Amino acid sequence: MNNLLETNITYLKGVGPKRADLLKKELDIVTYEDMLNYFPFRYVDKSKFYKVRDITTDTTWFQLKGKVSNVTPVGDKRTKYITATFTDDTGSIGLVWFRGLQWVKNRFQPGKEYLIFGKPSVFKGRFNFVHPEVEDVIDGEPLIQGNRLEGIYRTSEKMKNMGLGTRSIARLMKLLLAQVIEVIPEPLPDYLTKHYKLLSAKQAYMNIHFPESPEIIKEAERRLKFEELLFLQLQMLKQKINIQQKIRGRVFSVVGSFFNDFYHHHLPFTLTDAQKRVIKEIRLDMKSGKQMNRLLQGDVGSGKTLVALMSVLIALDNGFQAAMMAPTEILATQHFHSITTMLQDMDVEVGLLTGSTKKAQRKIIHKRLKEGKMQLLIGTHALIEDTVEFQNLGLVIIDEQHRFGVAQRARLWKKNSLPPHVLVMTATPIPRTLAMTVYGNLDVSVIDELPPGRKPVKTLHFFDNNRLKVIGFMRDQIKKGRQIYVVYPLINESETLDLKNLMDGYEQMQRDFPLPEYQVSVVHGRLKPEDKEYEMKRFVEGKTDIMVSTTVIEVGVDVPNASVMIIENAERFGLSQLHQLRGRVGRGTDQSYCILMSGHKLSNEGRKRLEIMVKTNDGFEIAEADLKLRGPGDMQGTRQSGMLEFKIVNLAKDGLLVTETRTIAQKILDKDTNLELPENNRLKRKLLDLTKHKANWGRIS
Ligand code: ADP
Ligand code: MG
Repeated sequence: MNNLLETNITYLKGVGPKRADLLKKELDIVTYEDMLNYFPFRYVDKSKFYKVRDITTDTTWFQLKGKVSNVTPVGDKRTKYITATFTDDTGSIGLVWFRGLQWVKNRFQPGKEYLIFGKPSVFKGRFNFVHPEVEDVIDGEPLIQGNRLEGIYRTSEKMKNMGLGTRSIARLMKLLLAQVIEVIPEPLPDYLTKHYKLLSAKQAYMNIHFPESPEIIKEAERRLKFEELLFLQLQMLKQKINIQQKIRGRVFSVVGSFFNDFYHHHLPFTLTDAQKRVIKEIRLDMKSGKQMNRLLQGDVGSGKTLVALMSVLIALDNGFQAAMMAPTEILATQHFHSITTMLQDMDVEVGLLTGSTKKAQRKIIHKRLKEGKMQLLIGTHALIEDTVEFQNLGLVIIDEQHRFGVAQRARLWKKNSLPPHVLVMTATPIPRTLAMTVYGNLDVSVIDELPPGRKPVKTLHFFDNNRLKVIGFMRDQIKKGRQIYVVYPLINESETLDLKNLMDGYEQMQRDFPLPEYQVSVVHGRLKPEDKEYEMKRFVEGKTDIMVSTTVIEVGVDVPNASVMIIENAERFGLSQLHQLRGRVGRGTDQSYCILMSGHKLSNEGRKRLEIMVKTNDGFEIAEADLKLRGPGDMQGTRQSGMLEFKIVNLAKDGLLVTETRTIAQKILDKDTNLELPENNRLKRKLLDLTKHKANWGRIS
């Protein structure tokens, strides 16, 4: 990497140590290069001048030249806001400020011309500008940057107070570009820029910050996104190749009596074709002599647990131990119960290790593991604590639910000299683009089929004032012998409030569904484990009709007779959570229902989420919609993964480019795995740089 670009930003004229500190804190900008890679998030067109009479709602931004008069502070004792009149030769329009009042009072001189720039809003049937940008007119060259299109940079309140508003950032950027433009390296080979008609790196940086035209902004963005994604894919694919070429895996050569006994005598149903196919893929990996790194995707209820279990049995058949890691204690416990039930007639020692496992029990588990007597350990991340030692760990299954970070996965790796095979399962499907990036170094298996006989769950949305209808419906269903879940949101910020909502709901429920005709149970996180168990058991055994609970059942019980899921304040749940909850019903043969309750006041996004839930049962479709709605930054778990800190790419929008660059990267590496051809020189250098500068993900997963 070029030395000049590595210069600390503090040395840029106009920055200095204090601002450098703030840039580091707020934007993680340390070097010239970091600064260059801080891009505007939108642009405003200052090439056009308008007249007051041109103002309509059709155009969003207007630049006007004229005089400012009638600067009037409004408010009794203290000024609350300031109004003024702006006039040109076609008419006048109001200006309003609510902040920076002191500055406004002294800003304007009578008779002098100013440029104002802003978005008109309508107040009492008239247009006015709230907080317009104001510029002096100097020698007919009014714009700070002399450019027509001005990039707007995101800044924070703190930064503005330190003189680092968007204008100042632009000024610094201009200075910086002038200094470094000649040394900005070109990491893409000519054959790529030519074939894909990409701007050069220099052109791209110039134009992303100071565009010459609206069209070229798109070009600059495309070029920079292409570069960012291409190198990500090259890294991901190289890691994959490395693992395949260099890292030996334990060879699971046989399928033996554990697997066969289970398959022939204890399997409660026939496997779906998809399950069979995926088990085959896993089996091939595990006997290949290479380490398996596979992502298992499948919709809620598609039977991932069974696939996991059968993979475990293959490990056991080959004399290895297996571990299964879940993100929460409840989920780990749930896995433990369902797996020990499925294995009850077989001779397999299964342990459960979570944060609340008692010390004495823990000791026994440690001992049994080390001696190789315990064959399968299920648990939370307590499982990756250093004291846990396996005698012969051969397979690790991570029920990811998007919560295990890459770093945590890496710790498992160290538990053994030869790495175990790794199978990562997601709780609900994730979008393809996300799979290709966050999990781009894994192979992917998809269960794209639900077990037979499942009727799609009918999903309905009701507003709270239609509750009576819903209650009538619930009574009907109970009369038919069905059971019902009623779920309240659990939002960590205010556990007390959440609990109160739940208990209020429970009491209401007891009034709407009085004894002895109806039985209602309640489960929430504050109950003692014994009480929770007791209440759950009553519901599972069909002794109660309704179970009121917090989201604990999201990952909890499996009750085929429960055919109605009512979700209160549904607008407060995320899409994948709603989908996961809905997956709790529809497991039996009866028609099932999911009823989403909400108030009338819905945010745009909240309303869309509910619409999507009503529209589709397909988890893959929901995942895509979720990504579009929220953007990748908010996707569960991606934040922790640390992999999605893109400089310019937006996964929600750039899906096509993800696929395209993945194909290109694959082609390049197919032809030149170690990037030794002269034409790939630049790629090789940049990749080396990236591995030097960033954490090395190569030995992970
Ligand atoms: P998920 O993929 O959401 O983890 P599970 O593994 O919990 O799904 O399976 C959901 C339900 O479907 C369980 O009750 C399980 O016993 C059942 N199941 C799994 N595979 C089959 C199958 N092939 N046929 C019928 N039921 C199945
Ligand atoms: Mg599951």
